[in-house]
Amino acid sequence: MNIAGEMVRILGKDRVLDTKEDRLAYAFDGTMLSGVPDVVVFPQCTEQVQEVMSFANREGIPVFPRGAGTGLSGGSIPDGGIAMVMVDMNKILEIDRENLLCVVEPGVVTETLQTAAESMGLFYPPDPGSLKACTIGGNIAENAGGPRALKYGVTGDYVLGLTVVTPEGKLVQTGGRTVKNVTGFDLTSLLVGSEGMLGVVTRSTLKLLPRPETARTALASFSSVESAAEAVSEIISRGIIPTALELMDDVTIRCVENYVKMGLPLDAGAILLIEVDGPASTVDEHIAKVASACEYARATRIEVARDEDERDRLWKARRSVSAAVVQLNPTKISEDATVPRSKVAHLVRRIKQIARTYDLKIAVFGHAGDGNLHPNILANRRDTGEMKRVEEAVDALFEAALELGGTLSGEHGIGLMKARYLRKEAKETGIQMMRAIKQALDPNNILNPGKMLWG
Ligand SMILES: Cc1cc2nc3c(=O)[nH]c(=O)nc-3n(C[C@H](O)[C@H](O)[C@H](O)COP(=O)(O)OP(=O)(O)OC[C@H]3O[C@@H](n4cnc5c(N)ncnc54)[C@H](O)[C@@H]3O)c2cc1C
Repeated sequence: MNIAGEMVRILGKDRVLDTKEDRLAYAFDGTMLSGVPDVVVFPQCTEQVQEVMSFANREGIPVFPRGAGTGLSGGSIPDGGIAMVMVDMNKILEIDRENLLCVVEPGVVTETLQTAAESMGLFYPPDPGSLKACTIGGNIAENAGGPRALKYGVTGDYVLGLTVVTPEGKLVQTGGRTVKNVTGFDLTSLLVGSEGMLGVVTRSTLKLLPRPETARTALASFSSVESAAEAVSEIISRGIIPTALELMDDVTIRCVENYVKMGLPLDAGAILLIEVDGPASTVDEHIAKVASACEYARATRIEVARDEDERDRLWKARRSVSAAVVQLNPTKISEDATVPRSKVAHLVRRIKQIARTYDLKIAVFGHAGDGNLHPNILANRRDTGEMKRVEEAVDALFEAALELGGTLSGEHGIGLMKARYLRKEAKETGIQMMRAIKQALDPNNILNPGKMLWG
């Protein structure tokens, strides 16, 4: 079977790559996993996606949908077959101010949509740290979150409707342009977070909000993670839901300070980056309440940004984390264990214990407000002994998250990385139900086979 030849017939020569070098370029994502596709294709419209899927389904060729490849669970990693890269379907088709919604193709970069919405006085809140590169299609498939999820929710909270090509090449429209829609099963919710295993998103209708008038940001330092966690509870119990409540532990603080030299306290046990937004008349009052809650929790230092430049400087600390922590070691295993908010300090304590037990460097940061931590294990993949310890530490980490009433993933998804842990949380009946859905929608197991349900 000449797959590349058939792809050229469907898409045209300049939309198909099949040299070894080109195929290798699409073998990776944001994890350390890899798998080389037989051919890489770049559809430009829904009809082309349908034709590719019909062909693949008929011939039994696996298809691996892909956005920008920033995923942190191996969801877009191919295993032979067709890597279907959606980045050229990248038009914002409509921004409807009256109905507060937009209609976009899946390859639109998240930041591009945010900027377009903001230029019209509107707001698209989901803000994954990768927003300069990742795509709306990838965000929908992973149900991506970000710092603003605490107040505004995750991608799925903004999806009103989808146009999806099924694994057999048929077209399905879910939801629509209305705020409310309870017609039939909620297929939109089923497809959101389905990690490219149930259909290929070719268009989405997304909810927008009016742009918040203004925002204020503070950075508070604490001698321990416990005090920082106490501040989180105190802020929320005083009736403030910040836009963001981001935590960094001592290891992360030292890495960031060494990387950006912005005067972070090197003796702090933890820092919180806190942002509130809303009408100018209330944000000052809210940031004052935040500062007072931090004082109550024995913050050792509180800095409140006075203008945009200072706000930007404080956010720089958080934005630099991913790049800063690799100073510790070149291989970064980024996890996203999530626990109820009240258990954040417990989870950090368990992670520190795991780091000692397995003699590993682990930097902990993440979205403290919604209990979604990112323990990043920094190792060296060439050191096989160390990588074995990493594996054991990851097992222990998920064990801890589940024991504390949490979940394997708050936002990165399961993909290949966490497939072998799924049973621990979903249990046998949960897996059976998910497999039955997969089997019903993709009887020939064409879309993203081998992921999530087959760990
Ligand atoms: C530095 C960094 C920071 C990050 N920060 C965050 C964060 O704060 N929050 C967060 O949630 N994630 C974060 N991520 C993870 C990642 O960026 C998100 O999961 C993002 O949604 C992936 O988008 P993508 O376009 O890169 O998708 P890809 O990685 O290309 O694909 C991800 C999944 O989506 C599927 N897919 C892609 N397009 C489609 C489509 N059109 N139809 C059906 N399936 C499709 C793929 O098959 C795959 O399963 C971060 C990653 C990095 C590298």
